[in-house]
Amino acid sequence: MSSTTPERDPQRILERVFGYQAFRGQQRAIVDSIIDGRHALVLMPTGGGKSLCYQIPALARRGTAVVVSPLIALMRDQVEALTHNGVAAAVLNSSLDAATRQQTERDLVEGRLDLIYIAPERLLREPMLRLLEQTELSLIAIDEAHCVSQWGHDFRPEYLKLGVLGERFPDVPRLALTATADERTRAEIRRCLLPAEAETFIDSFDRPNIRYRVGLKHRAREQLLSFIQNEHAGESGIVYCFSRRKTEQTAAWLSGNGVRALPYHAGLGDEERRQHQDRFIREDGLVICATIAFGMGIDKPDVRFVAHLDLPKSMEAYYQETGRAGRDGLPADAWMVYSLADIVQIRQLLDQSGAGEAQKRLERERLEALLAYCEHAGCRRPALLAYFDETHPGHCGNCDNCQTPPTTWDATEAARKLLSCVYRTGQRFGAGHLVDVLLGKDSDRMRQFGHDQLSVHGIGTEHDKATWHSVVRQLLALGYLRPDPEGHGGLVLDDSCRELLRGEQKLTLREDIRPAGRKRAVKAR
Ligand code: ADP
Ligand code: ZN
Repeated sequence: MSSTTPERDPQRILERVFGYQAFRGQQRAIVDSIIDGRHALVLMPTGGGKSLCYQIPALARRGTAVVVSPLIALMRDQVEALTHNGVAAAVLNSSLDAATRQQTERDLVEGRLDLIYIAPERLLREPMLRLLEQTELSLIAIDEAHCVSQWGHDFRPEYLKLGVLGERFPDVPRLALTATADERTRAEIRRCLLPAEAETFIDSFDRPNIRYRVGLKHRAREQLLSFIQNEHAGESGIVYCFSRRKTEQTAAWLSGNGVRALPYHAGLGDEERRQHQDRFIREDGLVICATIAFGMGIDKPDVRFVAHLDLPKSMEAYYQETGRAGRDGLPADAWMVYSLADIVQIRQLLDQSGAGEAQKRLERERLEALLAYCEHAGCRRPALLAYFDETHPGHCGNCDNCQTPPTTWDATEAARKLLSCVYRTGQRFGAGHLVDVLLGKDSDRMRQFGHDQLSVHGIGTEHDKATWHSVVRQLLALGYLRPDPEGHGGLVLDDSCRELLRGEQKLTLREDIRPAGRKRAVKAR
């Protein structure tokens, strides 16, 4: 295509080369901006159509477009699709033999390519940069730009060095694209990869076809199985688990119960991993039980559900992972269960990780945002989209809270009692013991610590054990309580609980939905 005069009209390129009738969302504005030679930060949800934002300017402008991507498989797919549409595209990465690489490099400098896809580590090599300096470039697109963020889970050190592109090619329009866009990541991308004057384009991150649901964990595997059997029998889905072992156990257990499932994690051999991934993509109705190692770059349109048996690390991770459901636009479920124990475990892991204080604080904040989302009693969409600085009117009708509104209750008094109990017992005990104290339990352990003598002993008999555990969980989720930093399993007060403790703040909590057969027993005083 580059040998003939380039077709300049974006609409005609869209129709003739890609076979689409209309641009979506912000695509047209972005394309126009790049064609005019400006720089841009592009934030679009997964499946939103980021590729066209650089592919069309690549064809409309003179020269070759450089596309940086960390995902070799995705580069290959894109180049294949482009070639199929008659576009001169090629890829440069470590998987090429020497002859092919040299030919591609010749095609590049001699101006025969519309687009060249390059892995960041290759691009950053001096000979490659010099080669590009001899080439007429139309634009530079940096895909998966959030990989530059050291706080994110996809951090790639080479991405930090991509700033050099601005020094070496100051006049070439640059775009950074990502589907991850909390404010901090966004600022980091701008700072590291783009000139100050770059414009930011944000498409709506709402995925209206995904139904978000968060429930309490009772017997996680049984809950998962009945969810799959009742709502997604014979359909493709992803089950995210925290550990490698759990992905294997879950896959084996599902298989034993008539649901075809395979594990996927970084500890499997390359061959086995690729095989499981390929089968998931090609076959219908396969469930993949995976750690977070699975997913980036998986483009399977008909994933009907994403289930979380363990909490993701942040809202960002939750959004990304659930976003792999329903890319075809048809109804899909994002389903998650979690428990008090999960919160404690994940917080402890975080506190005890080798990370620096600043990073720990950040990760704690991110986790808290996620937990607040989990415990949220209103429509999930505004809560989720607020994370992307996007407003949503709520009442979406397609989340658990809209479909079955939770009951809430005034928990101000209960919270005060619990927090006092934590304080009086010296901020050293876990949920089980604290609840025993509130319920006035008489045991050796109670007497051993003298807790039967405390003013808080037995002050909480108006609620049952399950209700108290629910209060503990929600206070943890809301950040009023924290697990002790040394990881002994005790709960400590967070500074933020002062007003609550003094009765200067009201607190409304949601009533837990209890598993069938365990009705709420209201105890008489
Ligand atoms: P992203 O990289 O943002 O996840 P892609 O660029 O892979 O998304 O696009 C997702 C899907 O949407 C692709 O199948 C793509 O061909 C399709 N698509 C993108 N833009 C349009 C459009 N304007 N009209 C129709 N389909 C589109
Ligand atoms: Zn809703």
